[in-house]
Amino acid sequence: MVDYTQLSDPNAEYTMRDLSGDSMGIQDDASIRDAEITDVQTAMVDGNYPWVLVRVYTDAGVVGTGEAYWGGGETAVIERMRPFLVGENPLDIDRLYEHLIQKMSGEGSIAGKAISSISGIEIALHDLAGKLLGVPAYQLLGGKYRDEVRVYCDCHAGNEAEPASNAEEAERVVDELGYDAIKFDLDVPSGDEKDRANRHLSPRDIEHKEAIVREVLDRVGDRAEVAFDCHWSYTADGAKRLSYALEEYPIWWLEDPIPPENHDVQRTVTQATTTPVATGENVYRTHGSRHLVENEAVDILTPDIPRVGGMREGMKIANMADDYYIPLAMHNVSSPIGTMASAQVGAAIPNMLAVEYHSYQLGWWDDLVEETVLGTGRLPIPDEPGLGLTLDLDTVGEHLVAGETLFDEA
Ligand code: MG
Repeated sequence: MVDYTQLSDPNAEYTMRDLSGDSMGIQDDASIRDAEITDVQTAMVDGNYPWVLVRVYTDAGVVGTGEAYWGGGETAVIERMRPFLVGENPLDIDRLYEHLIQKMSGEGSIAGKAISSISGIEIALHDLAGKLLGVPAYQLLGGKYRDEVRVYCDCHAGNEAEPASNAEEAERVVDELGYDAIKFDLDVPSGDEKDRANRHLSPRDIEHKEAIVREVLDRVGDRAEVAFDCHWSYTADGAKRLSYALEEYPIWWLEDPIPPENHDVQRTVTQATTTPVATGENVYRTHGSRHLVENEAVDILTPDIPRVGGMREGMKIANMADDYYIPLAMHNVSSPIGTMASAQVGAAIPNMLAVEYHSYQLGWWDDLVEETVLGTGRLPIPDEPGLGLTLDLDTVGEHLVAGETLFDEA
């Protein structure tokens, strides 16, 4: 296995925008800032996604825990960044974030896994800074608008193509688990598909989707808000015809009906219909959402905090969206760590709708930390320092991805 920490710094010989504390001439004499990063470690956990946990260690004996968006590759990218963090003051979150983006520019740090990896570190730095200063993370972000954040449950029916099966699961999740906000996949087989590659939606496909929406709303629409996700599947005209067909149903939002790259087309779809259209989990930093927001190409923005750039970037995106009266519903498939990072941002912004919970069928999601994270359909924001969570290292150890090792905290 490659030891990424031994790789040379390709940027070392250039005098490019180096934002390290040394080059910036930062003097740390005040006792409150008397902490240095000593190590950065990762562990990948086999949840319902391969969760990438990040821990940042300091000589003050305080540890920060974060989470990067799931997947292969992030652990190597995070290891690669360790030399750019060791010796730095962990309280300079924004500067370290920009420092990493600059240092990782050759590895594509305007988007993708580089930004997801940096997001994991940025979240760990918020946890760490909160613990060093003795304040909850939301306080670092400007304080809170609410004590708890609404959670919507991403649901999966036993037979996802069967409208009645979706309605049954909706009823179970609302009445037995207590959610008043749920989401179902709408990119399910109708039996009328002719060719998946061309993204065409036939009239029968649309009737089938409408039947799922109708049956779910008939069953729980009086006591829950329901969103539907299409996972970037359809043509612009198909998305418009589907949106028109759903206008008579009071759905929460229709998510990602078209592919995520072309925001001009996204605008035509969103502006063609009164059905609320949501997108945003596939773009990075404020720059990725700017065109969507400024052109009113989206009704609801869906950034993923451990992916998009982290908590401060999430704040910037939310504030930009709020200038256009656009709310956020945060995409989330994370462990309790990434979920809490999203909720802490959600507490600190006015335009927060809800954060996604994608692990209701996992069984041990909450065991990853010592605290109880989820309330009934809500996520209470703890007043403990940082994220307010303590990793349960036994549970982490039990569920490590094969070949991964637990944090070395000796
Ligand atoms: Mg989605």
